[in-house]
Amino acid sequence: MHKVDIKNFTIEGLEAFLAGQGKERYRARQIFKWLYQKDAATFAEMSNLSKEFRRELEESTFVSRLKPEVVEVATDGTRKYLFRLEDGNSIESVLIPDEDRNTLCISSQVGCAMACEFCLTGTFRLTRNLSCAEIVNQVCAVKQDAEVRNIVFMGMGEPLANLDNVIRALKILTCPDGLQFSTRRVTVSTAGLIPEMALLGKSVTVNLAVSLNATTDELRDRLMPINRKYPLRELMAACKNFPLPARRMITFEYVMLGGVNDTLDDAKRLVRLISNVPAKVNLIPFNEHEGCSFRKPDQETIDRFHRFLLDKHITVITRASRGADISAACGQLKGRLEKRGQDGG
Ligand code: SAH
Repeated sequence: MHKVDIKNFTIEGLEAFLAGQGKERYRARQIFKWLYQKDAATFAEMSNLSKEFRRELEESTFVSRLKPEVVEVATDGTRKYLFRLEDGNSIESVLIPDEDRNTLCISSQVGCAMACEFCLTGTFRLTRNLSCAEIVNQVCAVKQDAEVRNIVFMGMGEPLANLDNVIRALKILTCPDGLQFSTRRVTVSTAGLIPEMALLGKSVTVNLAVSLNATTDELRDRLMPINRKYPLRELMAACKNFPLPARRMITFEYVMLGGVNDTLDDAKRLVRLISNVPAKVNLIPFNEHEGCSFRKPDQETIDRFHRFLLDKHITVITRASRGADISAACGQLKGRLEKRGQDGG
């Protein structure tokens, strides 16, 4: 019999699965607690389940886990975890410490199909989607190493291009019997897949971040090919319609590229674009990586842009680059994608 990975089930899914085997619903909650609160690796550990039940579970399911193959620590304390997947592919997650509020940045795909011009992950194209289990297992593994307060889907991949698995993972992350994250502490970031944004909003409560990066279709078409399919006007309408809980805002990420999108005219257009949406802006000075000709604007230009938004009463932060010395910053994640076949690793 083909065994299923028990970490691919939401609690409702597991309840239905167990019901099919004639078991009580509350068993799903017990199993979830073992998996996500006690990090159980085997059914044998689940001591409040009968031996017979554990044997039955073992016949139909298995417990997957991820163990970091490499953990790199940057001078600023940022930690980058490299995980090797069952099929030999690899992904990265990044833990960004901030006093006691650690943020974990997780991956949703091996590679990425979005092909944004400035992003290193995008240059490797898409290998495959991560399963729900592979997404939540990044969190389970890092939790063994450090406290995790916030989760952001800003690692490798476009989460909304892997919507079903991402929604299931979000349900497990925020499940009271699962990983118990508050919905306020989980953020999904997208390059702007409009139909999927609506589906996400319908299925779960989470924070949404949108990678805007340009204020005209002409420039955004060039930087982010997805814009040719979903142009700015439609994207902003989708943001406006996104079902935000009271007092929450959409985060607009804006990678600052020297001489490309960093003028006061850009800032003015940005203010106008987001004027109809409860919005805050994250400015991300471009992180340079090999083989990319973009550069980071000088500090004065960044400050000027930042101040302009502030003067227009927009909540704005300029994101300090974290972990750049271990290639853990935004747009620098690649797993071991390019090395396959060369060094066997
Ligand atoms: N695909 C999703 C999730 C990735 S988030 C998305 O596009 O939102 C990664 C963030 O880092 C995005 O906002 C992206 O615009 C930004 N980014 C990519 N490459 C970068 C680089 N080299 N320097 C700074 N930010 C970068």
